[in-house]
Amino acid sequence: MKKFKVYIVFSIIFIFIINMLMTGCAPEEEIKIKKINNFYKTNYKCEIDDKITIETTISGDNIQFSDISLHLSDKTAFDVDYNIVEGYVYYTFTVVFIAKKSGKYNFYISNLDNSISSNTVNIEVLENPNQEDNSPSQNEPNQPSNPEPDSSEKTETKPTPNTPSETSIIVYTTPTGKKYHYNKSCAGKNAIQSTKEKAVNIGLTPCKKCC
Ligand SMILES: [Zn+2]
Repeated sequence: MKKFKVYIVFSIIFIFIINMLMTGCAPEEEIKIKKINNFYKTNYKCEIDDKITIETTISGDNIQFSDISLHLSDKTAFDVDYNIVEGYVYYTFTVVFIAKKSGKYNFYISNLDNSISSNTVNIEVLENPNQEDNSPSQNEPNQPSNPEPDSSEKTETKPTPNTPSETSIIVYTTPTGKKYHYNKSCAGKNAIQSTKEKAVNIGLTPCKKCC
């Protein structure tokens, strides 16, 4: 009987130790994005220079804009800016498109490894009929495809150097880091290019090593 009691006690201690080892050594899984809700409206039409603001919600923890990939069918078709703001229940993701060229495009958003994604939104950009500029018309058949550059008229007009504002300063962030870096290598291999304005907006602070 005494032997049996000792056996029970040792068994309990053994199970306790195994349990501690398993929970203690398991890497803490950080699921940042749990769900990306679908965009409510999926078809947009606009003209060149029009601005479209499209919004959806994302649930998860500690999500930053660098955790989101925006998959746009033609990256040259829009000026794109996006932002994520933490709310009470979920994050609000807002993306602003400014149309630059006509055509049919689509986009969706996902997490970084593309395992969680939204539905696809289509944007059709129509040629602005009122746009009367002096650029050569596309419909003119006799237009030489490669006009000779008029070297005599060439005047080197250098653009006035504007002082870099907060919006244009390139910084590097990481999916999990709380700092932003001027130096890409300092940010590490997960470095994501961003702007200082965005980094500051989401509460990142400058890296003490490189900023
Ligand atoms: Zn740094």
